[in-house]
Amino acid sequence: MNLPDQTLLADEVGSRLTGIVDELTGLSEINSGSFNPAGVTKTAERLGDWISSLQPSDVSLVPIDPSPVMGDDGTIDDRPVGSALVASKNPDAPTQVLLFGHVDTVFPADHEFQTVTRNGDILSGPGVTDCIGGMLIGIEALRLAEQHGVLDAGLGWTFVAVPDEEIGSAGSKPVLARYGEGCIAGLGFEPALPDGSLSNARKGSVTVHAVVSGRPAHVGREHALGRSAIRGLAEFIGKVEALTDKSITVNCGKITGGGPLNVVPDHAVGSFNIRVLDPEAEARAREHFTNVAATFTETPIELVWTGHRPAKIPGPGQHRLLEIGHELMGEPVPVTDTGGCCDGNDLAAAGLPNLDTLGIRGSGIHSSNEVADVTSIPGRAAFAAGLLAGLAGQSQLA
Ligand SMILES: [Zn+2]
Repeated sequence: MNLPDQTLLADEVGSRLTGIVDELTGLSEINSGSFNPAGVTKTAERLGDWISSLQPSDVSLVPIDPSPVMGDDGTIDDRPVGSALVASKNPDAPTQVLLFGHVDTVFPADHEFQTVTRNGDILSGPGVTDCIGGMLIGIEALRLAEQHGVLDAGLGWTFVAVPDEEIGSAGSKPVLARYGEGCIAGLGFEPALPDGSLSNARKGSVTVHAVVSGRPAHVGREHALGRSAIRGLAEFIGKVEALTDKSITVNCGKITGGGPLNVVPDHAVGSFNIRVLDPEAEARAREHFTNVAATFTETPIELVWTGHRPAKIPGPGQHRLLEIGHELMGEPVPVTDTGGCCDGNDLAAAGLPNLDTLGIRGSGIHSSNEVADVTSIPGRAAFAAGLLAGLAGQSQLA
């Protein structure tokens, strides 16, 4: 079905922009660092109040399983996370679409970056761009769709805002996949790339920890009897980081271990993030880690794999979504391949074609320089509404 012109739709959202920006400010000033479950759930709850104006058939907070965190001692701690917000409407319509994003941010409750300030069109604050501003764009797109008869044309929707995306979505991954079942497509509201383009292919991400065991000894008297876990880890890092090439990036981002300086250290932990271009690169990286670890007999290395998002390889469904966007805009939608990953990777791997960067245009995400350009809200909402209209009534995407 066809909607009014994109400019007219954007003007409609523009007429509500003050209220939207006020709401974005209020939401972003609630601390929602991933490991602040109370704050994240409060944000989800408030977003639930906001989406209630669409009169969904269901709005609920869904508990999410804890997330594994590697401790300095080499053991896994399952840390609680907040609840997801899930809302839906028209569950019996022939075309179902999943709208997704997250309410958690990378800023813990004791971080200095907590308040929102506005300078002209630029809003600065934790999560204004990644991804709370995006969630509000998703809601405005649904509002436009509703007001212009897209739901009557056969569209139903489920909106999911997860509480743990920034820490890998360990708990919400199966929940998202479940809500994605039966949907024709996913629209994700992660921030647009800084130039306004959408992400296309995304690298995959693997998190692994090398837990190294050594043998303690007095440095002065019995040094030769000791086996240094720290030295073992250092050698291991050199060997696995050497795998970095065009399709694999290995980064050891954190090390811990040792203790008193006069003792040969008997434990060390190195935590790695591996980015991979495709499944073949992922298999190669995993095999390399396993093979290298097996060679460390003096300081045995146990590998603990805690996080995984497969590479997102654009398929026919994703191409079709971009085609719908092309028809809307009258020109090809600019896309960029990226090394970053998000829930769009997992949903694509679960069989749900999706565009995952329909959110706000901004920059400085994951830093105290995070800013959102609020003038991008109307156009982005109009674009997502156009995609919803293009999907309504269709039984399959490609
Ligand atoms: Zn994000």
